[in-house]
Amino acid sequence: MMIDPFGRSISYLRVSLTDRCNLRCTYCMPARMRFLPREELLSLDELDRLCSAFVRKGVRKLRLTGGEPLVRKDAIDLVERLSRFLQSGELDELTMTTNGLLLADHAAALASFGMRRINVSLDSIDPETYARVTRGGRIEQVIAGIDAAIGAGINVKINAVALTQDNLDMLVGLAEWAHARGAALTVIEVMPLGEVGEDRSDQFVPMSEIRRRFAERWTLTDLAMRTGGPARYVRTNEGGTIGFITPLTHNFCGDCNRVRVTCTGQLFQCLGQDANADLRTPLRASAGDKLLDAAIDAAIGLKPERHHFAIARGAAPAVARTMSLTGG
Ligand code: SAM
Ligand code: SF4
Repeated sequence: MMIDPFGRSISYLRVSLTDRCNLRCTYCMPARMRFLPREELLSLDELDRLCSAFVRKGVRKLRLTGGEPLVRKDAIDLVERLSRFLQSGELDELTMTTNGLLLADHAAALASFGMRRINVSLDSIDPETYARVTRGGRIEQVIAGIDAAIGAGINVKINAVALTQDNLDMLVGLAEWAHARGAALTVIEVMPLGEVGEDRSDQFVPMSEIRRRFAERWTLTDLAMRTGGPARYVRTNEGGTIGFITPLTHNFCGDCNRVRVTCTGQLFQCLGQDANADLRTPLRASAGDKLLDAAIDAAIGLKPERHHFAIARGAAPAVARTMSLTGG
């Protein structure tokens, strides 16, 4: 078991497979994004070793993310390899966060390797809004991906970042669309991660405002349901589920059970802090895992208590790196 200095048990690992992406969402990265040289990235074998080390140390839930995880050619090979931990019962869940553009091609394989739930990021179902926010994304592709995943028996959750000028008026419609497909919707407050060429205060909507809009449409009942993360859920009187992630207006750092590893093997103990540990050097230093294990233990021992996100006009981001680098 990995226990951090604040007594929190770390049982959830998010691994970014790549910093690259086939979209350029306006809140996530600048239009001209510079990606890492490929040789910086961990290989398939290194990712496998890294994930295995965390599973040995008590991680029960593993999420593959990015960048866009499915742009990496060997993403499905990694899922296939890691599925051995589902079969052995060492992992409860192997899951992924994706923009869904390539999901139609891979949903059946993901399901066959034991993926039961997947998060698909979709901020609007209006084609023009989607194309604008993602800087060029084609919504038909995402919808085909979502339908393929549902058809393969994967439980889909839609993630939407709330944005004042882009989708605030469309979130109720997005929830209706998701619920009609049997999918939950989770709405996320935008976080001040990286310079994206826009002032975050022009993007940010507090969750109280979003919830007020849902409450005008439905009667909402709070649910006790927890998925080991910061989301808090409600049920609508029509039976749909809506989650709220409120890093700005209400943080749940006290319950934090996760750490993130980037595609270059940097472990970030907290999404909103600069503290990190290099796991690539110990991974590459020897074929055995002694150095790696020691580096992970040392890093968990330095997990910060909480983030200090704030959004104010003209303010610098909380951290310089974008979400696409840390792994959302
Ligand atoms: N490309 C994949 C996707 O979009 O689902 C996975 C990586 S993406 C960085 C993971 C999640 O982070 C997405 O749901 C995205 O909307 C969210 N995200 C990115 N930047 C964010 C920000 N500044 N604040 C809040 N959420 C953000
Ligand atoms: Fe790519 Fe996901 Fe970031 Fe959009 S949110 S640019 S899809 S990494």
